[in-house]
Amino acid sequence: MPSANTEADVDEAVFHSVLLGDAVWRGQIFDGDWREAKHTLIVREPATGATLGEVGASEPADMAYTVDRARQGQREWASWTADQRAAVMRKAAQLLEDDRQEIVDLIVRETGGVRGKGEVEIQGTIDECYHSAALLIQPEGELLPSPNPARLSLARRVPIGVVGVIAPWNFPMLLAMRSVAPAIALGNAVILKPDPQTPISGGAVLARVFELAGVPKGVFSVVNGGADVGEALVEAPGVRMITFTGSTAVGRRVGELAGRNLKKVALELGGKSPFIVLDDADLDAAASAGAWGSFLHQGQICMASGRHIVHRKIADDYIELLARKAKALPVGDPYRAEVAIGPIINSRQIERVHKIVGDSVAAGAELAAGGTYDGLFYQPTVLAKVTSGMPAYELEIFGPVAPVIVVADEEEAIRVANDTEYGLSGAVQTGSLERGLRVAQQIRSGLVHINDQTIHDMAGIPFGGSGASGNGSRFGSTTNLDEFTEWQWMTIGGQPVRYPF
Ligand code: NAD
Repeated sequence: MPSANTEADVDEAVFHSVLLGDAVWRGQIFDGDWREAKHTLIVREPATGATLGEVGASEPADMAYTVDRARQGQREWASWTADQRAAVMRKAAQLLEDDRQEIVDLIVRETGGVRGKGEVEIQGTIDECYHSAALLIQPEGELLPSPNPARLSLARRVPIGVVGVIAPWNFPMLLAMRSVAPAIALGNAVILKPDPQTPISGGAVLARVFELAGVPKGVFSVVNGGADVGEALVEAPGVRMITFTGSTAVGRRVGELAGRNLKKVALELGGKSPFIVLDDADLDAAASAGAWGSFLHQGQICMASGRHIVHRKIADDYIELLARKAKALPVGDPYRAEVAIGPIINSRQIERVHKIVGDSVAAGAELAAGGTYDGLFYQPTVLAKVTSGMPAYELEIFGPVAPVIVVADEEEAIRVANDTEYGLSGAVQTGSLERGLRVAQQIRSGLVHINDQTIHDMAGIPFGGSGASGNGSRFGSTTNLDEFTEWQWMTIGGQPVRYPF
């Protein structure tokens, strides 16, 4: 288990960073300028409990001022040419590139994820900037058929205005930037509310990036706080769209508030993604993919493989292979040791994970590996004999737990895969491409993979879920044009149109 560090050690190591080095952000909030806040939020490293720093806490009452600045900034920003905006996005990417290793250290320490996860996160964040710059070479509209040859009829994409972005703590920088970068590139202003557990990599770094990249003041702001600040952002008059990434329960609340205020809302929510292993699968490859799908970042990923649905013929062998992998994964502080599994984000969440495991065992599930924890470190866990009705079958766990459900055939596998209100990701392992396609096409989800696991995201794909996983929004690729702009129909004639009266 890791030993606690002194605060001085922690500060020196984390903040050796070009972007954060001059400390303008400490105890401050950013609305185009850094301002001292009345209160602060302390940020702790989950692996040790050490303090990483503190950011300014926002007050719901300050939202009107922040929105006003954002509206002013947006008007100026939208008048910049596409080339000028693209150049700013590329500069933002370059700033992140220049500070890559320091930012990875920060992500590792603030989120408790392993280094590889941090590297994926910074690369994805940089990719979002470059892809958003590339959106600006897309056509801005369409020339439409006109009933009057003397008049042009066209449809053009216009910015929405001020967009509120609410992000979670598990991939704080990437899941914020996934909305922030395309929204800004397309001429909107953004007010970001990171999770209060990860406001440095999820907020302060991005504020510095856009400040140094040169967006006009007010085009990007960060508000720090919890539900009260989040709700103030959703309800603020002048914020025209909300994108929310987080739990289904909070997503419902955000959706209600946004709907009541007649705002566009994009919801990216939880998951319980099926990982199907058919009887003709390569079992070594399947167990490796299954372990990755359930244990990466301690299972704290929306696309985590939440149910291993395994054909009866190979179930015993698969469970043994998966349990062997789970037992071999080193657990500990990802910043100070080579581990595969870091800490769970907080004690409330680890207690929830353990209750789901305990209640499922009490209902008849069997522990094939794990099931214990020490502090915030939960052992990778394999639960066999999971059946419908058990908490491990029904609930998103968000911990390193692989529930295994045994099925008799392909048809039952598909039925179990779809026996959930979630619909984010899915995967099927099989030696037959024909079977893989047949099964994959029947999984109700926004993402599906054949002979792979369930966790994949990239800037260039349309990412999103359905049902309890989201309201049909899609981030990435050219779908960002639809999310972050509105259509305006325009007709143009040289002469005034004459009417009968
Ligand atoms: P969460 O819903 O508790 O918090 C997400 C964000 O919402 C945080 O910034 C939080 O401060 C804010 N918030 C909380 N209450 C609010 C309210 N009433 N109004 C406005 N904002 C509010 O989620 P979490 O625990 O941080 O993240 C885990 C969840 O997120 C899991 O369910 C996971 O599956 C989901 N998730 C989904 C995706 C996706 O792309 N679909 C990605 C990552 C995480």
